[in-house]
Amino acid sequence: MIDDTFTAMAREVCAGRPELVTDIAQAGRLTAWEAPDTNETELRDAMAAELRAATRCGARRPGYDQRPAIGRNSIPCVHEHGHEGTHANAFGDRWAL
Ligand SMILES: [Zn+2]
Repeated sequence: MIDDTFTAMAREVCAGRPELVTDIAQAGRLTAWEAPDTNETELRDAMAAELRAATRCGARRPGYDQRPAIGRNSIPCVHEHGHEGTHANAFGDRWAL
């Protein structure tokens, strides 16, 4: 594996989730390519946001998962990927697994 600046940053951002380092490093490279004037702090923030999105459950309510994501009932679950118990959106609305 090529050990570049993005991989080193991704290792810090993904502390505790080493399996996600490659994806987050790639997201960092893409951000820097799309916005070349992004400073290092902004880049780390972008990578951290990408990490949060990558580790989210993302499940949607049955019956709403095939429709456009419009309306409160369509907002995906914000819990960690692979969590147990009920799903919950950012409003705290819960539904069964
Ligand atoms: Zn969930």
